[in-house]
Amino acid sequence: MEQKVLVCDVDGTLAESRQPICEEIKSELFRIAKEKEVCLITGGSLELVKYQIGKVPSGVRIHIMPTMGTQYYIIKGSKLTEIYREELTEEDKTLINGAFWYLAEEFWLDRYAELKDQLDDRGSQITFSALGKDADLKKKKEFDPKKKRRNCWKQYLETILPNYEIKVGGTTSIDITRKGGDKSFGLTMLGEHLNMNPRENFYYIGDKIYEGGNDDAAIKMNLHYLCVQNPEQTLKVLKQI
Ligand SMILES: [Mg+2]
Repeated sequence: MEQKVLVCDVDGTLAESRQPICEEIKSELFRIAKEKEVCLITGGSLELVKYQIGKVPSGVRIHIMPTMGTQYYIIKGSKLTEIYREELTEEDKTLINGAFWYLAEEFWLDRYAELKDQLDDRGSQITFSALGKDADLKKKKEFDPKKKRRNCWKQYLETILPNYEIKVGGTTSIDITRKGGDKSFGLTMLGEHLNMNPRENFYYIGDKIYEGGNDDAAIKMNLHYLCVQNPEQTLKVLKQI
């Protein structure tokens, strides 16, 4: 591989969906990261990617772009540095808070707490906690253990906010973030951060590099790329790098 930057999708490419990356693949990535830049870009959250990659050896630097590249971190050894995190705009927040107001009305959730105590603005995410942010943990756990109620709320919210990512989280909560779109934004930002032209310097490995696939940014950005079938194939490829 002549390119200076190896970019890998995670789920289906380096690991089975939401599973840890196997030791063999990890050791190849860490080896490559000593000579080149290595970036993982995925739809998953930062917490998920951290779980998937596990411990990074000291002196090894990995670029991490969770949530389709709307966030960017660098892990070096045990140190995590945030480069950026796309914040919600005031307009996003108004729409999301409005949708939660409708939700509370529709499902009578105002009987549990006041809306202002149910809402938590986390910058890039707004979280609604039915019993309020500071409710008793035991009560929280009993509230919706099978996620039935929240799956119902999620469906309701999706009709009002089709352009946002709506997730059932925690014990009583719903999390809303902006939808990631495709990976072009993150990859462009990575190029800027490294001061490199993606077209010349990036090599992209993913399992969905085709039109409409979630790795189609590789085609749109005209990168050097390889579409793999599974992590086993990726391992073989990495060994050649
Ligand atoms: Mg994938």
